[in-house]
Amino acid sequence: MNAAIYPGSFDPMTLGHLDVINRASKMFDRLIVSVLDNKAKIALFSVEERVSILKEAVKDLPNVEVDSFSGLLVDYAREQKIHISVRGLRATTDFEYELQIAQTNRLLSKGMLDTVFLTTSLEYAYLSSSGVKEIAAFNGDISPCVPDFVAELVYRKFRNKE
Ligand code: ADP
Repeated sequence: MNAAIYPGSFDPMTLGHLDVINRASKMFDRLIVSVLDNKAKIALFSVEERVSILKEAVKDLPNVEVDSFSGLLVDYAREQKIHISVRGLRATTDFEYELQIAQTNRLLSKGMLDTVFLTTSLEYAYLSSSGVKEIAAFNGDISPCVPDFVAELVYRKFRNKE
């Protein structure tokens, strides 16, 4: 069985992430989308909330699971016995950052964890979780960026902050 992990912050999951998930789910028998619990980053949604959003979004994809992890991806991948990490590439600005992570993971895992990159679908090339949050903070329209149920949750978060 070929399996992969798609790790990320997903704060919140966007249509760009979902596009990567959909495409990766066709390439692998099993895909684990895993939310990184990064204590150093201030997030809008808790890890549990991000996991529950992802679960709702992938409920019709039978070979996709949702999980979370903290610490190093290489350790998590070893525990899961998975050797492939999936990441998305948008513009060239992602490239250097992603290359660094991919090389480091390969080094740390002694070649046991490799990275597969999926290039973004053009309509999502400029979509980012931080962009979504910036727009929503000013009550802008995020409906082209996230599924409707996610948009509702994002607006609610910002309303509760006021
Ligand atoms: P991180 O904080 O680890 O960068 P993100 O949740 O922002 O995590 O993104 C996870 C992965 O998804 C990254 O590889 C990122 O480049 C990719 N990604 C984010 N947005 C898009 C998008 N619109 N299209 C394709 N890939 C994307």
